Amino acid sequence: MQYRRYANTDIMISALGFGAMRLPKDDDYAIECMQRALELGVNFIDSAFGYRGGTEAGPGSSEILVGRAIKAVPRDRVYISTKNPVSDPSGKAWRERLDISLERLDTDYIDFYQLAHSVSWEDYATKFRPAGCGWEEALRARDEGLIRHFGFSSHDTPENMLRLLEEGIFESVILQYNLLDRRNEPVIEYAREHNISVLVMGTVGGGRLGMSSEKLEGILPGTATTPELAIRFVLANPGVTSAMSGMNSVEMVEENAATASREAPLSAEELGAIEQALGENARLADLYCTGCNYCMPCPQDVGIPQTFAAMNMLRVWGLEDVAKAQYARLGPENREGLLQADACVECGQCEDKCPQNIPIIDQLKECHEALSE
Ligand code: SF4
Ligand code: SF4
Repeated sequence: MQYRRYANTDIMISALGFGAMRLPKDDDYAIECMQRALELGVNFIDSAFGYRGGTEAGPGSSEILVGRAIKAVPRDRVYISTKNPVSDPSGKAWRERLDISLERLDTDYIDFYQLAHSVSWEDYATKFRPAGCGWEEALRARDEGLIRHFGFSSHDTPENMLRLLEEGIFESVILQYNLLDRRNEPVIEYAREHNISVLVMGTVGGGRLGMSSEKLEGILPGTATTPELAIRFVLANPGVTSAMSGMNSVEMVEENAATASREAPLSAEELGAIEQALGENARLADLYCTGCNYCMPCPQDVGIPQTFAAMNMLRVWGLEDVAKAQYARLGPENREGLLQADACVECGQCEDKCPQNIPIIDQLKECHEALSE
């Protein structure tokens, strides 16, 4: 296993982190997976107050299983991360959530505490930092020895994440980064320059890169699987401290641990090949649809950019199952009320608004044929 330094400390954490969000359904097997990872040198596990069945207000079971799994090693040989949701913003509620996490993890302290889970700049400024909210409690809990290091996780824009880092109170950030989503590279670069650790979530694209794609594997001859390429890509970024992966089988743990044990994740030549292939594929994706949304709203509620985004998964990346699953999210159950392409009545309104001059009506028919089960 490779290890990288956590912020300005002597702590060396494993290049592969265990993401405990999507643990296997069977409790014993979930623990077995985490303990196999520990045996293979993984020393960093990331959970959250609400993972595995929790809600904004009530805890899930992930922390309990993590707490049981880490009993296999001395406490000082493993680094635990968990997160406090910014639901009820009062300091009292924040502290109660911390106490629940400590109890469920069955530990006296949390190594890397994400003071705010999936926080936006606005929530930070209005629900966490003001007097009487979580920040004062966080300082108190650190003085009491309950928290060792401060971090946060966020899905906000790169600009807002930079603002959060500029606050100067965090030693690490958990952010999304993978082969298909490189928006946060400026944040990673800033963090590297300021010795802030970057712990990556979504290394295998929330599962999208967990499936086999011949096109992606073809980028690097000698790459056995798409997840291998995905992990090597993330670890090749010198600003990344640990690439987290939600592993739900022992085999996956063993494969990912082997990948994270390679001394050099990618050579400059290999990185160049990836850059080139990704650049070409991104251009190819843009040729079809840039996702600008100018064609929306459609009077029939057809999810036009969403349909084309799913089609790009198939056409550009060869990820057929992912493309179909993404397309299946359109329909009467869709949260935003967006429908599949067969709801189109060919009124033509969208085509006039598309800067790419995409023959939307014909393309929608093609997409529906390729993506509907
Ligand atoms: S042509 Fe079809 S997709 Fe385009 S706006 Fe009309 S109904 Fe919607
Ligand atoms: S206007 Fe054209 S390019 Fe923009 S989202 Fe709609 S189809 Fe895609």
